[in-house]
Amino acid sequence: MAEYLGVRVHVPENDPTMLAYLQHAGTHRLTLQRCRDCGLLQYPPGTACEHCTCLDFDWAPVSGKGTIYSYEIVTHPIHPAYRDRVPYPIVLVELDEQRAVPAPDYALRVIATLVDAEGRPEHEERVAIGARVEVAFADLGDGLALPLFRLSDEPPEHALWRYPG
Ligand SMILES: [Zn+2]
Repeated sequence: MAEYLGVRVHVPENDPTMLAYLQHAGTHRLTLQRCRDCGLLQYPPGTACEHCTCLDFDWAPVSGKGTIYSYEIVTHPIHPAYRDRVPYPIVLVELDEQRAVPAPDYALRVIATLVDAEGRPEHEERVAIGARVEVAFADLGDGLALPLFRLSDEPPEHALWRYPG
């Protein structure tokens, strides 16, 4: 049985796209849909291409590297399983792939939890817009995994910015 933080993960049978996404993550490669028509990657996984509405995709592994575009600190647990994890950071990561495509302000951005090397929520004072990250995975069981991010050793892309403390 797949579970995360002790809670069963149920992927409905009528959502094969999400199941495929989590199965690819189970191999510890961040893998996204690439449209067979326009060739663009998309996130989150979906039925139709968000760029051209095509229904045909291939699954394409990506580097899993990117830059924190924005973030928030969650202070109220949304589920009892998160009670011991607050406060924790959620990051919006602009991946290195497909930047400024199809438009300068439009990029491939993935949302996930930011964790430390042990998989615990990263400390708030270490989270910053502009920081470089790499993908990590939380194994869920049944061959599934949940993509997460952790800070990488790469220098920041630009001057870091944090919410005023
Ligand atoms: Zn397309």
